Amino acid sequence: MQVTIDPDAGFCFGVSRAIAAAENELSTGGELYCLGDIVHNSEELERLKSKGLKIITHDDLPRLSGKKVLIRAHGEPPDTFETASKLNITLIDATCPIVNKLQQRISKSYLSSDAEGGSVLIYGKPGHAEVVGLVGQTNGNAIVINQMEDLNQVDFSKPVHLYSQTTMDKEGLDAIAAEIEKRLETAGGQALKVHNTICRQVSGRAPLVRAFAKKHDVIVFVSGKKSSNGAWLFSISLSENKRSYFVSATEELEKEWFKPEDSVGVTGATSTPPWLLQEIAGEISTF
Ligand code: SF4
Repeated sequence: MQVTIDPDAGFCFGVSRAIAAAENELSTGGELYCLGDIVHNSEELERLKSKGLKIITHDDLPRLSGKKVLIRAHGEPPDTFETASKLNITLIDATCPIVNKLQQRISKSYLSSDAEGGSVLIYGKPGHAEVVGLVGQTNGNAIVINQMEDLNQVDFSKPVHLYSQTTMDKEGLDAIAAEIEKRLETAGGQALKVHNTICRQVSGRAPLVRAFAKKHDVIVFVSGKKSSNGAWLFSISLSENKRSYFVSATEELEKEWFKPEDSVGVTGATSTPPWLLQEIAGEISTF
């Protein structure tokens, strides 16, 4: 059996940067708290916890006066920064620069469209940390669009700005934009401005995963179960190769998936640590 690790798999730039910031801080021996999971991968999370990283929620902030708290790549809404400042918490802001720029663009659009009575829409997952941070740039007024029915809340007689959470799929964004165009026409509404803010580190992975899945007899896709990007990329792998299997840890591998003559490809999401891909590939090689 031949086992190959996808050379394009592994952490995206934003997640690598946040993990490096955490490790850098932990290496000084200080206490470090992180607001939410730093990465949607429980194996990597455990590794960082073993080095001293403590994962917290917003409810924990009041007891952390004087401590250091890391903001993960997804970013946070402005009120988190205000709360931390009031509580004398030192924030280590590891918001991905791409997310940070998106927050600024949304804030600017909101200020201009608010004056015209327009709407800012965010195509994304309700409650996802990045989306919460984005909605926070509009004083909570942006409308999160996840399904077509969510568009029923929008006033189509006014201008509409459509943005996307960075990890959403382009097909979904295009479908939402097409539906908005239709509704604007019916309502005699004004312009739609579509801002394609899907991260290229994510959208660029789709064709690579597709090509990699075609090249191998079996694909082992490694990702945390909470990763939306992982679920999406796995669906692409599965559409190209029916022998695609999703695992989060070595123990989930099953020997029956493989035949001695198979060429096996090991790939993963933008939140899958390279060491885990190696561990999984190493285990498969022993079958
Ligand atoms: S997917 Fe893109 S936007 Fe999101 S953290 Fe990674 S690099 Fe940043």
